[in-house]
Amino acid sequence: MSDRAPGEPLALGVDHSAATGGARSSVGPRLYIVLTRVPRRSQLAVGSLGTVTLERGWYGYIGSAARAREARVARHLALEKPLRWHADYLFTAFPAERAWLVDGADGECELAGALAALPGAERRPRRFGAGDCRCAGHLVRFTRRPLRRDLAAAAHAAGAPPSGAVRAFGSRPAAS
Ligand SMILES: [Zn+2]
Repeated sequence: MSDRAPGEPLALGVDHSAATGGARSSVGPRLYIVLTRVPRRSQLAVGSLGTVTLERGWYGYIGSAARAREARVARHLALEKPLRWHADYLFTAFPAERAWLVDGADGECELAGALAALPGAERRPRRFGAGDCRCAGHLVRFTRRPLRRDLAAAAHAAGAPPSGAVRAFGSRPAAS
């Protein structure tokens, strides 16, 4: 099952020999989750999506980057950038607070669906970030701040191993 466009190659061309010395060998899509908080109900113009209403809450954006994932996540966390993706509009208006890297899940669409299945979560606005697929969207709203164990449970539901699949990114070292 794939949300990729017909004919688009999957990960068949991965060059495992390039991973010499790497502590991590990537299995499956290299995903990430970036979290922000919308403190009050807001209207936001989001490029091709038009103007959307964001209810108050926490929002997790799910993305993937076949290469240079950490640079991609750092870009989401940056305060100023060209507005290219839907996520750029969101994180310019509501700066991203933190992020996690996720390995082993089936894909960003599956991970978004599993996150939206958590209690109090839903995919909103519909189709956000889903320009290259047909799913309900890659932005998930939470009524309360999601914890790493919530994210790990969702990643596991989306095919990742039960532990070690979700790692904190950026501002502080991984919790022991
Ligand atoms: Zn999708």
